[in-house]
Amino acid sequence: MKYVLVTGGVVSGLGKGVTASSIGVVLKACGLRVTSIKIDPYLNTDAGTMSPFEHGEVFVLDDGGEVDLDLGNYERFLDLRLTRDNNITTGKIYQSVLEKERRGDYLGKTVQVVPHITDAIKNWIESVSVIPVDGKEGSADVCVIELGGTVGDIESMPFIEALRQLFFSVGKDNFCLIHVSLIPVLGVVGEQKTKPTQHSVRELRALGLTPHFLACRSAQPLLESTTQKLSQFCHVPVGNILNIHDVPNIWHIPLLLQSQNAHDAILRHLELLSVAKSPNLQ
Ligand code: ADP
Repeated sequence: MKYVLVTGGVVSGLGKGVTASSIGVVLKACGLRVTSIKIDPYLNTDAGTMSPFEHGEVFVLDDGGEVDLDLGNYERFLDLRLTRDNNITTGKIYQSVLEKERRGDYLGKTVQVVPHITDAIKNWIESVSVIPVDGKEGSADVCVIELGGTVGDIESMPFIEALRQLFFSVGKDNFCLIHVSLIPVLGVVGEQKTKPTQHSVRELRALGLTPHFLACRSAQPLLESTTQKLSQFCHVPVGNILNIHDVPNIWHIPLLLQSQNAHDAILRHLELLSVAKSPNLQ
């Protein structure tokens, strides 16, 4: 299994969900089978009891799972039928660990965030990623994982640590980290600012994860000088800096990624170029 992890920095609501779904679309157009997992680091077990005014619509899956609306994006973009387990929350992870603790499965050990919560997260990801969700037999080739929230949030720390360990155990060829970040423009200066992205990449690296790709959200397309600066200060090759500027319709984003050859760079990173075909999104 190859994993593509999508994290977010600077602010929430940047478009991580749309970016993750769109990456899935371009990989699928290359002939790969794709599945997806959404991680929501809140303590609620699922989105069923959360106010739609605060959290957006609750998306109901075929198995009755009440989940975050991002799973609706995944189903629509990728033509999948996901299960309730494709949405991981802190609530679900703690519930499963506490049930095991009550059964005595930890054999008298002290139950801790590391390793018990982080192991539960890793095991959950590994077992859900192989469930077929596209109506075919066998597991998918690539699992796109979206980590909700913003890097540095206290809530997401156990997930970051579990994903760091997952990266270490599966290796670089099987794990690709795409960090979605914001490039603001200050009105008076009119310059695309890279500092918030530099800081969020530094935060990610301090937690043991180095992004292989940056997906930069901006109002206008990135300038060449901005890309150069990001590459130099964030330690990401120029070819791996993707620009997701504002578009009138989110269905344009897979085409935007394709026009930047994102699929090529991601497939090369995951050593999948030999099994993939040229994408056809038209
Ligand atoms: P996150 O997962 O980071 O919270 P979402 O993927 O839910 O963010 O996107 C937040 C909002 O921004 C959605 O309404 C989405 O349609 C919109 N959006 C995302 N990317 C773009 C873009 N490139 N251009 C215009 N709107 C976008």
